Parts: sequence; C-alpha cells; structure tokens
Amino acid sequence: MASILEKLKQLALDYASNRQREIADIDKKLAQIEQEKLNLSAEREKAHATTERATNFPIEGGTDYPCPICWADGITSFLRPVSSPDSRDMFRCNKCHFEDAF
Ligand SMILES: [Zn+2]
Repeated sequence: MASILEKLKQLALDYASNRQREIADIDKKLAQIEQEKLNLSAEREKAHATTERATNFPIEGGTDYPCPICWADGITSFLRPVSSPDSRDMFRCNKCHFEDAF
C-alpha cells in the first residue's frame, strides 16, 4: 500500500510531466519574440537613418522631383503629375502613394 508521501510524489511527477510538454510551446514563443526583436531593431535602424537622408534631399535639379518619403527611406522614386482639383500642381508617388499640391 502506497504511503501518502508516495502518492504526493506521484502527483508531483505527473505535474512535472505536464509542464515538460509546455517547453516546446514556450521555445516556439521565445523564437517568435527573438525574431520580432530583430525586426524591431532593423526598423529602428531604418528610422534612424532617415534624418541623414532627408538632410541630403536635393533642392536643386531638373524637373523630376524625387518623392520625399521614398528618399528618406533610401528608395529612388519620382513624383508624377496628376490632375488637380484647383490651379495648383499636384504630384503623386506611385511607390508609396505620397501626394501633395504646390
Ligand atoms: Zn514615395
């Protein structure tokens, strides 16, 4: 006949066995968090670099206007004229959909 302590030990072993099965799920969640951390670090670096690129935005040149948003993100894209509801000149970036009138 098992003692109370032996029964309690078995309960502890059963509980531990259940907890061991959680390890794979926890490892998967940790890997996802690590990947998210890498993604956020990359986004942070990208955001940090926009200031220098924006500072170097060309203010002299031809009639092709670089998109300011794409420029700051390190992408070359030029604004295209689109129809304007008023007398101003309206431009749109086909890459990021920036749009403004001047
Ligand atoms: Zn753009």
